Amino acid sequence: MIRADLLVTNIGELATLERGPIPRTGAALGNLGIVRDAALGVRDGTFVYVGSSRGAARTVRLARQGRRIDARGGTVLPGLVDAHSHAVFAGERSFELPWKVEGASYAEIARRGGGILSTVRTTREASTAELRDATAGRLDRMAAGGATTIEVKSGYALNHAGEIRLLELVRRLGRRRGAHLVPTYLGAHAIPPIFRRRPNAYVDEIVRRTLPEVARRRLARFCDVFCEPGYFSIQQSERILRAAIALGLGTKIHADEFVASGGARLAARLGARSADHLLAARSGDLRALARAGVIGVLLPATPFTTIGSRPSPGRELVRAGVPVALGSDCSPNSWVESMSLVLSHAVYGAHLTPAEAISAATVNAAAALDVAGRVGMIALGRPADFLVYDLGSPEEIPYRIGSAPAQIYRQGIRISPPRMDPYI
Ligand code: FE
Repeated sequence: MIRADLLVTNIGELATLERGPIPRTGAALGNLGIVRDAALGVRDGTFVYVGSSRGAARTVRLARQGRRIDARGGTVLPGLVDAHSHAVFAGERSFELPWKVEGASYAEIARRGGGILSTVRTTREASTAELRDATAGRLDRMAAGGATTIEVKSGYALNHAGEIRLLELVRRLGRRRGAHLVPTYLGAHAIPPIFRRRPNAYVDEIVRRTLPEVARRRLARFCDVFCEPGYFSIQQSERILRAAIALGLGTKIHADEFVASGGARLAARLGARSADHLLAARSGDLRALARAGVIGVLLPATPFTTIGSRPSPGRELVRAGVPVALGSDCSPNSWVESMSLVLSHAVYGAHLTPAEAISAATVNAAAALDVAGRVGMIALGRPADFLVYDLGSPEEIPYRIGSAPAQIYRQGIRISPPRMDPYI
């Protein structure tokens, strides 16, 4: 008999994501490894049974103090992985919405006092306690949307001490009960005002001072660069990312979001882990990513919040053979806290099928964060990160816009929403 301390029964459809290469491309992206009429057994935070209800009845015994959950015919998915967020910041920028509706561009909004530098001001001014409370609340709501693993980028301080403070905070918040956090250093998010006339001096500061400290103290797993005209050029981006590689960090690029400027090509040349956004990437750029095995991280809610932007190129990436992953891009520019909602944008906006979108937000997003050996699928011996939806099939999750998981578990412990015990 298999002993379990948590048993989930009466699962209508269990999406295991267990079979296939990692990351997935092409037809394999649509295979969710479904088990119907399924059950799960968990012991000490790890899956010890994944299979049919009948098999569970024969082989799994629940410990005396164990818990039994009736999924009531619902759907169970692996915990979603948010491969791209800017969740650590203070303040908000709803004042930009009328400008966006007027048709103001990202650059125009920045000229009017909005944009990244506005959030840099509010973040620098916030006390560490204020920043911690704002970010902790946001991460809890992101977990409630189904993300049990979340990448969090720095990038709203743009100076040495401030960027280190953000990454230290991410480390501290990652020790709480809640989603697993993967930190990324994005000091190269924008040129800080005092370096406006000498941007290479800021690149010097990143390469010579901040990156070595980030690597030495293991404050980040990845280094990312906002590679776009007016932000960081191809040459500056390459210099920063080569320094990161030499220090043992993984690399990511905000690539070709507004114009095709060579960011995806640079990701391919450097063998970056991912190239993110890609709204303006051309078909040749996508083929270069596919050849180099770079994961394309799409943020399909972001063009929706930009108003008037072209949509994320989901079908184009699949056709080109690029492994697609998904992220929320949660930031003051695109305040999207729910990965369940991102699945809807991936289908209705980026034209992935529901199954492709779920693979992109689980196994492939885990691969984009170098944690595919641990999260993103439901399999024996893996951490028991899973979601229970009161919906009859995985397809219904993106189909019903705004749907959210009824229960969220990380390592076999219910993390969200808070248990609503009746008063008795
Ligand atoms: Fe971003």
